[in-house]
Amino acid sequence: MYAQPIQKLISELSRLPGIGRKTAQRLAYFIIKSDDNYAYELSEAISNAKDNVKYCSVCGNITDKDPCEYCSSPTRDRSIICVVQDSRDVIAIERTKEYKGLYHILGGAISPMEGIGPEDLRIAQLMARLDSTVEEVILATNLTVEGETTAMYISRVIKPLGVKTTRIARGIPSGADLEYTDEATLANAIEGRRIID
Ligand code: ZN
Repeated sequence: MYAQPIQKLISELSRLPGIGRKTAQRLAYFIIKSDDNYAYELSEAISNAKDNVKYCSVCGNITDKDPCEYCSSPTRDRSIICVVQDSRDVIAIERTKEYKGLYHILGGAISPMEGIGPEDLRIAQLMARLDSTVEEVILATNLTVEGETTAMYISRVIKPLGVKTTRIARGIPSGADLEYTDEATLANAIEGRRIID
């Protein structure tokens, strides 16, 4: 139906999350019909992002420098670590401007359905960070079944170390992704976090 190069572009675009076949076709035609430079700028931006972005060796955040801006900042509160599933959750929490501690990115949540166990997440790396300077771990995984399971699991493994673990909750509807929670609600949830015992 389409010329082969267009077909290829449509099929690559339709692999993107949330992009169906129809949208992929629309995007492909937009790219092709745009002025000369756009297609090259887009492809360069994609390869540049892929080549220059790495993971922070401390917290696992996506960054262009290692350690990342949070881990290397002299002004962040090093006694609190906020544990999230994904780098995008860091952006959501930063937007609230309420939180000044450090982060730890798990890279997902425990999900037996998808075959993701604790060993597939960056939990061992979190444990390794819990020295005497850390007073509190905030479990800010999503309010979904997977996120709750992960929070419960981590609070259990941390408990013997005697570090306080808290869970965000207030105001966030159950089943919610942090990424899509509005700033006021998220700020409220961090402030209203409760101790897990
Ligand atoms: Zn970091």
